[in-house]
Amino acid sequence: MSDEVNPFESLQEQIDDAAAFLDVDAGKLERIKYPERVLETNLTVELDDGTIEVFEAYRSQFNGDRGPYKGGIRYHPNVDRSEVKALSGWMVYKCAAVGIPYGGGKGGIAVNPIEYSDAELERLTRAFATELRPLIGADRDIPAPDVNTGQREMNWIKDTYETLENTTEPGVVTGKAIESGGSAGRVEATGRSVMLVSREAFDYLGWDINEATVAVQGYGNAGSVAAELLDDSGANIVAVSDSSGAIHHPDGLDASAVKEYKLQTGAVGGYDGATETMTNEELLTMDVDLLIPAALENAIDEELARDVHADIIVEAANGPLTPDADDVLSESDVHVFPDILANAGGVTVSYFEWVQNRQRFHWTEERVNDELERVITEAFDDLVDVYESHDVPNFRTAMYVVAIRRVLQSARESGVWP
Ligand code: GLU
Repeated sequence: MSDEVNPFESLQEQIDDAAAFLDVDAGKLERIKYPERVLETNLTVELDDGTIEVFEAYRSQFNGDRGPYKGGIRYHPNVDRSEVKALSGWMVYKCAAVGIPYGGGKGGIAVNPIEYSDAELERLTRAFATELRPLIGADRDIPAPDVNTGQREMNWIKDTYETLENTTEPGVVTGKAIESGGSAGRVEATGRSVMLVSREAFDYLGWDINEATVAVQGYGNAGSVAAELLDDSGANIVAVSDSSGAIHHPDGLDASAVKEYKLQTGAVGGYDGATETMTNEELLTMDVDLLIPAALENAIDEELARDVHADIIVEAANGPLTPDADDVLSESDVHVFPDILANAGGVTVSYFEWVQNRQRFHWTEERVNDELERVITEAFDDLVDVYESHDVPNFRTAMYVVAIRRVLQSARESGVWP
């Protein structure tokens, strides 16, 4: 894992790599490599003991050519300006890759939420929502969950916004609880798209996913649901990890039982259905058919990439591979299916939630899952079209070619103003 690689520079390198296959003039390219604006704010919160603490928070609105800015809000000690800028850019290309009518944004607070009480986190979230209020809105910028945030935080943001605006506007955030305007299938959506992309990838390469061995790094919402769905479809989840370390069983772990264990104890370590424990690095270099990095950025850097033995990587996290790692893996014929497609299920079902909010009409889970499958398989086909018709080095560049074309097309149609 590399802390030295700046994720914003990684994003820009990925854009440049794809732009080399497109006929785009320098100024137009420059425009889609930087955020339109970034809010940086310091949130003052009273803790339960009466003391005051100040938290750095950000919201980056990267590009709005294709629709309202869209993207999650992350609570993590590593949140900083450059991470949020990168994550907001990845949202632009993710939404364009799957063809949903959004631009990209992202926010975050530099905080380790496990160190604070629920009441403190509620005050912190409402303080952030108050700062965000002039920027967000169902037609402007629509936050959602990300690392360490979920339905609870989205409900608080919605409530703060609606109270201050004296209105009801559930579509101002997505990822809400069902009774607060959430969508069926939203919690599982990111993991579901990881499963769908894995299935399509194996199909495309002519391999059988049913007997595949799978290692999952990170067992939060995306990783654990992907593992469960792949387990259900017959694949063999041989190792999973979280920040406490990794567990392994050569005959396969019961993905749902591990998820339940983590829910009870807070970590996967100690689960008694495993034969051995290992480090995260050991998991990432295991000889498996499918590796799913589902934690944070830069999990695999150039050095670690040289030791990767997986045949296929499907990225559940945003930005888990550095650009240098990508180069090494392309050279060694490891097939990497990029984050902007693989984890796009989350934002796609966020889009369905927003559509349902606007129509005040609730879809069944079956409808949500069917529509999600359609969006993801169509995007996979678009990826394959470019991969086969251009001399691109890997699937990531192919997906960026698809996405950048769409962003540039809408920018061209809008013209330049003023
Ligand atoms: N945080 C998720 C992502 O990185 C979901 C964003 C959304 O639903 O807007 O894609």
